[in-house]
Amino acid sequence: MDHFTYRGGILHAEDVPLPAIAEAVGTPVYVYSRATLERHARVFREALSALDNPQIAFAVKANPNLAVLKVLQKQGFGADVVSGGELTRALAAGMAPGKIVFSGVGKTHAELLQALEAGIGQFNLESEEEGYELSLLAQRHGHRAACALRVNPDVDARTHDKISTGKRENKFGVPLDRAADIYAALADEAGLEMRGIAVHIGSQLASLEPLEDAFGRVGALIGQLRKRGCAVTHADLGGGLGVPYKAGEVLPTPAEYGAMVARVTRDWNVALTFEPGRVIAGNAGVLLTRVIRSKRSAGGPPFVIVDAAMNDLARPALYGAWHDFDAVEPSGELAPAHIVGPICETGDTFAMDRMCDTLAPGDLAVFRTAGAYGATMASSYNSRGFVAEVLVDGDQFAVVADRIPADAIMGAERVPEWLA
Ligand SMILES: *Cc1c(COP(=O)(O)O)cnc(C)c1O
Repeated sequence: MDHFTYRGGILHAEDVPLPAIAEAVGTPVYVYSRATLERHARVFREALSALDNPQIAFAVKANPNLAVLKVLQKQGFGADVVSGGELTRALAAGMAPGKIVFSGVGKTHAELLQALEAGIGQFNLESEEEGYELSLLAQRHGHRAACALRVNPDVDARTHDKISTGKRENKFGVPLDRAADIYAALADEAGLEMRGIAVHIGSQLASLEPLEDAFGRVGALIGQLRKRGCAVTHADLGGGLGVPYKAGEVLPTPAEYGAMVARVTRDWNVALTFEPGRVIAGNAGVLLTRVIRSKRSAGGPPFVIVDAAMNDLARPALYGAWHDFDAVEPSGELAPAHIVGPICETGDTFAMDRMCDTLAPGDLAVFRTAGAYGATMASSYNSRGFVAEVLVDGDQFAVVADRIPADAIMGAERVPEWLA
């Protein structure tokens, strides 16, 4: 459920007609709905209400915009960060350091130190090597780092290969069959407080089965560790819940997910953390775009060329992902079209043979479900600059990220004197 609906034949974000945003801010522009973010946060929290004080750490990489983080901070969320830059954002949004967890296989010493000094709640160690390095750093700087060991459960998440993270050949976590030995070794480190296990098997999961399978393996590992005398007080179950990208698509609900988790973890006796990203932010945003022109194709439907491109929304080019495409003021007349951006790559194609409302040059349209892994993946390819972002709240809206024009990006470049 989201708050992007038609009123009087015009698509609105909450109470704001999208043409008003296009007029004021230009296109392309990402538009987020505060009410939708809050609704998703509430639904997710309520889905976990059978658990004892679960911690919810929003996966910042899904949408790192400061205003979006602020909305979620006010909902009591913490953050799952994967870089020093994301940590800086989470803190800037007012998230309590104790509610921040730090994941990622390539945390640098500078980033580990930044996180130690910020006093974050938990490091999710992705390797034994990282554990020893963090222990040394922590001791040298007078800290003790609370840690979970991320395991790779070798489970097929049955999602797109590029966003699958829990198979043996993926770079994430430590192999399950070595996890107990590594955990016990790291528990002896003076700079570390090993307190739990973390797992995250992938994103946009369309079924709960792989998650249940992975959590079952984590539960068995916790039992094994306790038998060896290791303390385990925490478990971090990651993110991964999918969202419907096509109208009418049915996915596991947060409530079904919460019920499964409650059942599987009943005897674990640990404090649980969750790292949802997409399920919170995905349907809370659209990419608003304007048609530049239509072009006849060789025999097929026309190419509708919009002013958004793969540099603004990379998912279709990266993963062959589907985004619903809707006219802001539908003509009521449907026809197939190829929806493409202006970039000089055939990959800059949002949809082929898509049945949609006929659109004329200058008309507005949206790519839906663009609130997660949208603006955050933008690049300046083809020297197109970075897209603006807007947050809507009832009948008001604000620019929450300025458009960064191509000349501002060029301003950071120099021609050396010896070349001039
Ligand atoms: C990406 C990521 C998430 C969030 O995944 P979603 O599918 O957006 O919920 C959570 N945890 C980790 C470690 C991640 O890398």
